[in-house]
Formats: sequence, C-alpha cells, structure tokens
Amino acid sequence: MEKKVYEVYCNSCGKKIETTDSTKREDYISIKKEWGYFSNKDGQIHIFHICESCYDTWTGQFRIPVKVEEQTELL
Ligand SMILES: [Zn+2]
Repeated sequence: MEKKVYEVYCNSCGKKIETTDSTKREDYISIKKEWGYFSNKDGQIHIFHICESCYDTWTGQFRIPVKVEEQTELL
C-alpha cells in the first residue's frame, strides 16, 4: 500500500511542496504520463510535479492559454 504522507518536490524549481501542514498547504500539479507506441518513449512512464508558481510560469508561455472553468461542485 502506498504511504499517504510523502514528500513532494517541484521538478521545475526543486522546492519542497508542503503537503502535510494544513495551515500552509500548497496545491500542485502531478503529471503521470505513460508514453505509448506512437512516441519515442514507448513503454516509459514519466512522473513529475509542478508547484503553482512554476505552473503559472509554464502555462504563461503557452501560445493558447489554459482553459479555465469554474468548479461547479465544491466539496
Ligand atoms: Zn516550482
């Protein structure tokens, strides 16, 4: 079984992303890509995490902006 508490580092800037302290907890994106046959990475699984500030920098470089929708169901 996977441990629930683990350390997450931003792959872009290398900073530790706080996931356990509820008072300063940070959100981040987690990408897991299983490359398939039509790539040059067939059979590889790439996993990385990006903190919110690097996410903003990263997506700010996109030619087509990220699609933003409001969450209709707040849990
Ligand atoms: Zn970062």
